[in-house]
Amino acid sequence: MQSQSSPLGEFDVIQRFFKTQSEAMLAANPGSVTLGIGDDCALLKTGPHEEIAITSDMLVCGRHFFEDANPEWLGWKALAVNLSDLAAMGAKPLGFTLALALPKADPSWLKAFSKGLFAIANQYSCPLIGGDTTAGPLNICITAFGGIPKEKAIQRSGALKDDDIWVSGTIGDARLTLAALRHEITLSKSDLALIEPRMHQPTPRVELGIALREIASSALDISDGLLGDLRHILKQSNKDADIFLDRIPKSATLLKQSADIQTQYAACGGDDYELCFTAPTSQREAIAKIGANLNLPLTQIGSVKSMQNSAPEIRLINHAGATLNQLEANALLQSFDHFA
Ligand code: ADP
Ligand code: MG
Repeated sequence: MQSQSSPLGEFDVIQRFFKTQSEAMLAANPGSVTLGIGDDCALLKTGPHEEIAITSDMLVCGRHFFEDANPEWLGWKALAVNLSDLAAMGAKPLGFTLALALPKADPSWLKAFSKGLFAIANQYSCPLIGGDTTAGPLNICITAFGGIPKEKAIQRSGALKDDDIWVSGTIGDARLTLAALRHEITLSKSDLALIEPRMHQPTPRVELGIALREIASSALDISDGLLGDLRHILKQSNKDADIFLDRIPKSATLLKQSADIQTQYAACGGDDYELCFTAPTSQREAIAKIGANLNLPLTQIGSVKSMQNSAPEIRLINHAGATLNQLEANALLQSFDHFA
């Protein structure tokens, strides 16, 4: 049990003050709710054949972006991170609301913000349908709604023993960009230009999520770091995992970094918004076809194992086929907690 004085993490806050009470209410009367707190989206039953997936994500100035951030990129990213949660469930975007706190109504800032916002809204046919605007410290909160055929949503709890574990695209570029912008790492201008959009204008894998509805046993989007996010799947599915560190796909730019940086950024860097999913080995051919159709690399990085102890474990396997010991693994396994 958490002592009174120890700091609460993001997930402790949700569990202690919101999730327990929400679950008690839903246990007494689920109403139209088919899935509550704990996945990338909640699900509401809206008819005999369809459910609505709902997700909210907030971007806070000073926490998620720098004060002088390009407003066009911000508009894009605010919606992209929500569409990414819809993608993780296999939902098709239907619309979104925008709650905005602004320090001042600067027309040139708003024009650029709106341009980025509607560029991605148009690309994914996801219209703005309402919201709220107030004065205050810059804060952008979007709630997005997606449609999905009944019982086809891909949940975090469905991973099965011996399933393959897959990721889309490459992992670690957003973390590498952040390191370069913080001057922790030096990148050439051309290298930075190549990867910077990965952090500022991520691509939600909406088409992939929809294609995986009938194929994946579980999925989530990687917003807080691959291994930390994978742990959510394992926890909810009561499983362990073996991960081959060398198989985690990395961009040519990340591959120019030291071996340690490559592994750390790929395994734990947040903000890439690729999908991590599990699927039975019998689906390998179908997954290869989806990757080819979408022109998106899909890489098998490990497999789901039955749980050995009382909590899920991730065994990290290095290039030589050796399993990292606890100390080596711990050094890697720090995910991103918003209050840590
Ligand atoms: P994601 O990274 O996929 O957006 P989060 O890690 O932010 O998901 O949240 C984990 C789960 O907790 C989600 O199901 C989310 O809806 C829920 N959640 C987060 N904050 C709150 C809150 N303040 N009240 C209720 N549910 C919350
Ligand atoms: Mg998510």
